[in-house]
Amino acid sequence: MQLVHDDLVQSRFSNTFARTVEMICPHCLKEAVFEARSWQEHGQQLAASELTCARCEDTVLFVQLLQADGTRKQAGLFCYPRPAGREPMAGVEHLQTLSAPLARSYESALKLYNRAEWGATALTVRHLLGGLASRMLAEDKRDLPLTRALESLPQEVDLSRPLQDIAQLLAPSGTFGRQFDDEAQIDKVTAELLLELVEQLLTYLVVLPGTMADLKSRIATAPVPLRRGSGAA
Ligand SMILES: [Zn+2]
Repeated sequence: MQLVHDDLVQSRFSNTFARTVEMICPHCLKEAVFEARSWQEHGQQLAASELTCARCEDTVLFVQLLQADGTRKQAGLFCYPRPAGREPMAGVEHLQTLSAPLARSYESALKLYNRAEWGATALTVRHLLGGLASRMLAEDKRDLPLTRALESLPQEVDLSRPLQDIAQLLAPSGTFGRQFDDEAQIDKVTAELLLELVEQLLTYLVVLPGTMADLKSRIATAPVPLRRGSGAA
Protein backbone atom coordinates (compact mmCIF):
# COMPACT_ATOMS: atom_id res chain seq x y z
CA MET A 1 0.00 0.00 0.00
CA GLN A 2 1.31 3.38 -0.98
CA LEU A 3 0.24 6.69 0.57
CA VAL A 4 -1.61 8.86 -1.97
CA HIS A 5 -0.85 12.55 -1.43
CA ASP A 6 -3.81 14.89 -1.09
CA ASP A 7 -2.71 17.01 -4.05
CA LEU A 8 -3.29 14.05 -6.39
CA VAL A 9 -6.99 14.02 -5.52
CA GLN A 10 -8.78 16.09 -8.18
CA SER A 11 -12.38 15.92 -7.00
CA ARG A 12 -14.34 14.51 -4.07
CA PHE A 13 -17.80 13.14 -3.29
CA SER A 14 -19.99 15.16 -0.92
CA ASN A 15 -18.74 12.99 1.99
CA THR A 16 -15.22 14.25 0.93
CA PHE A 17 -14.01 10.78 -0.18
CA ALA A 18 -11.95 10.88 -3.38
CA ARG A 19 -13.94 10.77 -6.63
CA THR A 20 -11.07 11.31 -9.10
CA VAL A 21 -7.33 10.95 -8.57
CA GLU A 22 -4.62 11.82 -11.09
CA MET A 23 -1.48 9.72 -10.97
CA ILE A 24 0.80 7.52 -13.08
CA CYS A 25 -1.08 4.32 -13.80
CA PRO A 26 0.75 1.19 -12.56
CA HIS A 27 -0.74 -0.77 -15.49
CA CYS A 28 -0.34 1.46 -18.59
CA LEU A 29 2.48 3.63 -17.08
CA LYS A 30 0.85 6.86 -18.29
CA GLU A 31 -0.40 9.85 -16.30
CA ALA A 32 -4.13 9.23 -16.02
CA VAL A 33 -7.28 10.14 -14.13
CA PHE A 34 -8.73 7.37 -11.95
CA GLU A 35 -12.41 7.52 -11.14
CA ALA A 36 -14.33 5.97 -8.24
CA ARG A 37 -17.97 4.92 -8.56
CA SER A 38 -18.57 4.46 -4.84
CA TRP A 39 -16.84 3.67 -1.56
CA GLN A 40 -17.74 0.80 0.77
CA GLU A 41 -17.01 0.91 4.48
CA HIS A 42 -15.43 -2.19 6.02
CA GLY A 43 -15.75 -2.19 9.82
CA GLN A 44 -15.21 1.10 11.62
CA GLN A 45 -11.74 1.95 10.44
CA LEU A 46 -11.62 1.95 6.66
CA ALA A 47 -13.47 2.35 3.40
CA ALA A 48 -12.36 0.84 0.10
CA SER A 49 -12.99 1.47 -3.58
CA GLU A 50 -11.62 0.28 -6.91
CA LEU A 51 -10.74 3.25 -9.10
CA THR A 52 -10.60 2.80 -12.87
CA CYS A 53 -7.85 4.21 -15.10
CA ALA A 54 -9.42 6.42 -17.80
CA ARG A 55 -6.73 5.34 -20.28
CA CYS A 56 -6.47 1.55 -19.94
CA GLU A 57 -9.59 0.88 -17.84
CA ASP A 58 -7.63 -1.32 -15.44
CA THR A 59 -8.35 -0.79 -11.73
CA VAL A 60 -6.38 0.16 -8.64
CA LEU A 61 -7.56 -0.61 -5.08
CA PHE A 62 -7.84 2.47 -2.86
CA VAL A 63 -8.23 2.34 0.92
CA GLN A 64 -9.30 5.33 3.00
CA LEU A 65 -8.67 5.26 6.77
CA LEU A 66 -11.55 6.65 8.85
CA GLN A 67 -11.78 8.64 12.07
CA ALA A 68 -13.97 7.53 14.98
CA ASP A 69 -16.90 9.58 13.58
CA GLY A 70 -16.66 7.88 10.18
CA THR A 71 -15.18 10.87 8.34
CA ARG A 72 -11.97 10.45 6.39
CA LYS A 73 -8.61 10.63 8.17
CA GLN A 74 -6.14 13.24 6.89
CA ALA A 75 -3.21 11.65 5.03
CA GLY A 76 -5.12 8.37 5.25
CA LEU A 77 -5.56 7.47 1.56
CA PHE A 78 -3.56 4.51 0.21
CA CYS A 79 -3.54 2.53 -3.02
CA TYR A 80 -2.43 -0.85 -4.36
CA PRO A 81 -0.62 -1.45 -6.60
CA ARG A 82 1.46 1.67 -6.06
CA PRO A 83 1.47 4.28 -8.85
CA ALA A 84 4.31 4.03 -11.34
CA GLY A 85 6.82 6.87 -11.28
CA ARG A 86 9.46 7.86 -8.78
CA GLU A 87 9.12 9.50 -5.38
CA PRO A 88 11.72 12.06 -4.22
CA MET A 89 14.76 10.45 -2.57
CA ALA A 90 14.97 10.29 1.23
CA GLY A 91 16.81 13.30 2.66
CA VAL A 92 16.04 15.60 -0.28
CA GLU A 93 15.59 18.45 2.25
CA HIS A 94 19.39 18.56 2.63
CA LEU A 95 19.71 19.31 -1.07
CA GLN A 96 17.24 22.15 -0.58
CA THR A 97 19.46 23.48 2.24
CA LEU A 98 22.59 23.20 0.09
CA SER A 99 21.06 24.96 -2.91
CA ALA A 100 17.46 25.80 -3.78
CA PRO A 101 18.19 25.92 -7.56
CA LEU A 102 19.73 22.41 -7.43
CA ALA A 103 16.71 21.16 -5.48
CA ARG A 104 14.45 22.65 -8.17
CA SER A 105 16.49 20.92 -10.92
CA TYR A 106 16.07 17.59 -9.12
CA GLU A 107 12.35 18.22 -8.74
CA SER A 108 12.06 19.02 -12.47
CA ALA A 109 13.98 15.86 -13.40
CA LEU A 110 11.56 13.76 -11.32
CA LYS A 111 8.52 15.49 -12.82
CA LEU A 112 9.79 14.94 -16.36
CA TYR A 113 10.58 11.30 -15.58
CA ASN A 114 7.10 10.80 -14.15
CA ARG A 115 5.64 12.25 -17.35
CA ALA A 116 7.69 9.73 -19.37
CA GLU A 117 9.72 12.51 -21.04
CA TRP A 118 12.96 10.53 -21.09
CA GLY A 119 15.15 12.86 -23.20
CA ALA A 120 14.20 15.95 -21.20
CA THR A 121 14.79 13.96 -17.97
CA ALA A 122 18.31 13.01 -19.08
CA LEU A 123 19.19 16.60 -20.06
CA THR A 124 17.91 17.90 -16.72
CA VAL A 125 19.94 15.28 -14.85
CA ARG A 126 23.04 16.31 -16.79
CA HIS A 127 22.36 19.93 -15.85
CA LEU A 128 21.89 18.88 -12.20
CA LEU A 129 25.17 16.93 -12.20
CA GLY A 130 27.00 19.96 -13.61
CA GLY A 131 25.40 22.27 -11.05
CA LEU A 132 26.17 19.90 -8.19
CA ALA A 133 29.81 19.50 -9.22
CA SER A 134 30.34 23.22 -9.57
CA ARG A 135 28.59 23.90 -6.24
CA MET A 136 31.01 21.51 -4.49
CA LEU A 137 34.17 22.77 -6.22
CA ALA A 138 36.33 25.77 -5.26
CA GLU A 139 35.58 29.01 -7.11
CA ASP A 140 38.50 28.71 -9.57
CA LYS A 141 37.28 25.30 -10.77
CA ARG A 142 33.60 26.11 -11.24
CA ASP A 143 33.88 26.67 -14.98
CA LEU A 144 35.45 23.28 -15.73
CA PRO A 145 33.64 21.09 -18.27
CA LEU A 146 31.41 18.47 -16.65
CA THR A 147 33.83 15.55 -17.04
CA ARG A 148 36.77 17.46 -15.52
CA ALA A 149 34.56 18.86 -12.77
CA LEU A 150 33.37 15.36 -11.79
CA GLU A 151 36.94 14.06 -11.90
CA SER A 152 38.02 16.88 -9.56
CA LEU A 153 35.31 16.16 -6.98
CA PRO A 154 37.14 13.49 -4.92
CA GLN A 155 40.16 15.81 -4.49
CA GLU A 156 38.09 18.88 -3.67
CA VAL A 157 35.46 17.53 -1.33
CA ASP A 158 36.41 16.40 2.17
CA LEU A 159 34.88 12.94 2.00
CA SER A 160 36.11 12.05 5.48
CA ARG A 161 34.12 14.81 7.17
CA PRO A 162 31.00 12.71 7.91
CA LEU A 163 33.25 10.24 9.76
CA GLN A 164 35.01 12.77 11.96
CA ASP A 165 34.19 13.00 15.68
CA ILE A 166 32.49 9.61 15.78
CA ALA A 167 35.38 8.10 17.71
CA GLN A 168 35.03 10.87 20.32
CA LEU A 169 31.32 10.19 20.76
CA LEU A 170 32.02 6.55 21.55
CA ALA A 171 35.17 7.08 23.65
CA PRO A 172 34.78 6.32 27.41
CA SER A 173 34.43 10.08 28.09
CA GLY A 174 32.19 10.77 25.06
CA THR A 175 28.42 11.36 24.93
CA PHE A 176 27.65 7.72 24.23
CA GLY A 177 30.76 6.18 25.79
CA ARG A 178 29.84 7.46 29.27
CA GLN A 179 26.46 5.77 29.12
CA PHE A 180 27.85 2.31 28.45
CA ASP A 181 28.99 2.17 32.11
CA ASP A 182 25.40 1.68 33.22
CA GLU A 183 23.48 -0.18 30.57
CA ALA A 184 20.24 -0.13 32.61
CA GLN A 185 20.15 3.68 32.43
CA ILE A 186 20.22 3.82 28.64
CA ASP A 187 16.87 5.12 27.41
CA LYS A 188 14.98 4.86 24.13
CA VAL A 189 16.32 8.18 22.82
CA THR A 190 19.94 7.11 23.27
CA ALA A 191 19.33 3.68 21.77
CA GLU A 192 17.59 5.30 18.81
CA LEU A 193 20.37 7.85 18.23
CA LEU A 194 23.00 5.09 18.38
CA LEU A 195 21.05 2.93 15.96
CA GLU A 196 20.72 5.89 13.59
CA LEU A 197 24.43 6.61 13.89
CA VAL A 198 25.36 3.07 12.88
CA GLU A 199 22.81 3.12 10.06
CA GLN A 200 24.31 6.33 8.66
CA LEU A 201 27.78 4.78 8.86
CA LEU A 202 26.57 1.63 7.13
CA THR A 203 24.98 3.75 4.41
CA TYR A 204 28.22 5.63 3.85
CA LEU A 205 30.72 2.79 4.18
CA VAL A 206 28.79 -0.24 2.89
CA VAL A 207 25.53 0.63 1.13
CA LEU A 208 26.76 3.51 -1.06
CA PRO A 209 29.81 1.65 -2.47
CA GLY A 210 27.68 -1.48 -2.98
CA THR A 211 24.80 0.24 -4.76
CA MET A 212 27.21 2.33 -6.88
CA ALA A 213 28.97 -0.88 -7.99
CA ASP A 214 25.59 -2.46 -8.85
CA LEU A 215 24.50 0.66 -10.74
CA LYS A 216 27.75 0.79 -12.76
CA SER A 217 27.40 -2.83 -13.76
CA ARG A 218 23.77 -2.20 -14.83
CA ILE A 219 24.95 0.79 -16.90
CA ALA A 220 27.69 -1.35 -18.48
CA THR A 221 25.21 -4.04 -19.51
CA ALA A 222 22.29 -1.75 -20.39
CA PRO A 223 20.61 -2.75 -23.67
CA VAL A 224 19.53 0.85 -24.34
CA PRO A 225 21.56 3.14 -26.63
CA LEU A 226 23.60 4.45 -23.70
CA ARG A 227 26.65 3.00 -25.34
CA ARG A 228 27.82 5.00 -28.28
CA GLY A 229 27.61 3.25 -31.66
CA SER A 230 25.24 0.56 -30.44
CA GLY A 231 23.09 1.40 -33.45
CA ALA A 232 19.87 0.94 -31.50
CA ALA A 233 17.04 3.25 -32.46
ZN1 LIG B 1 -3.87 2.82 -17.05
